Amino acid sequence: MTAFAPDSPLVDEVRPAANHDERGAEPDILLLHYTGMETAEGAVARLCEEASKVSCHYVVLEDGRVLQLVPEGLRAWHAGVSSWEGETGVNARSIGVEIVNPGHEFGYRDFPLPQVDAIIALARDICARWRILPERVLAHSDVAPQRKEDPGEKFPWDRLAAAGVGHWVAPTPIDDGGGLAEGEEGDPVEQLQTLLSLYGYGLEIDGRFGPVTAAVVRAFQRHFRPARVDGVADFSTCDTLRNLLAARPER
Ligand SMILES: [Zn+2]
Repeated sequence: MTAFAPDSPLVDEVRPAANHDERGAEPDILLLHYTGMETAEGAVARLCEEASKVSCHYVVLEDGRVLQLVPEGLRAWHAGVSSWEGETGVNARSIGVEIVNPGHEFGYRDFPLPQVDAIIALARDICARWRILPERVLAHSDVAPQRKEDPGEKFPWDRLAAAGVGHWVAPTPIDDGGGLAEGEEGDPVEQLQTLLSLYGYGLEIDGRFGPVTAAVVRAFQRHFRPARVDGVADFSTCDTLRNLLAARPER
């Protein structure tokens, strides 16, 4: 692709990516990722090259600079196999932002302040222009919990929420009173699966706490109860989920 005019006044530089196509839908999800590579340069190069078969709309560097790789009106290739609120094909309906961080594989670290400020400003701008609902500002791990863990438990969703980005409630404090774990079956598991599914997570409601349910619980914890990501649906996890659902505006 040749150079294009940036969609946001917050863009510092346009770096056209090779991979994109027609959307077929208006974006109504803002999907946040980390790059998960050792260097920012390596990540940007990969997101721009055709051979990688991936791309995204924006990259936010650790110093807060914002690059745009694909125009918002086109589909970028960042979500992969994914689902939210029963819909697959998240790429068609989302804007993808890659946040530079080595990730769990290469030395996961805190997101620096200038980077977080830049993400907040960019997210506010995108959500305002496309009228994206707060509860549809999501992590890659939310829409692909079995495959992905980005942007991860260090991502400051609380700070974004305080700035009006995303849907979030203060997590219920952890008490060590057990909880539902992988291998269990029955009505309480079915209730947990129902609540997770109501919020948007893709999982079967079958009353069996298998690996998929555990992955979804971990994804939920990374986003909403990051103090402990263990896949165990303890009281804190379940209560935070109930509070989130209660606080979600009626549609
Ligand atoms: Zn990702």
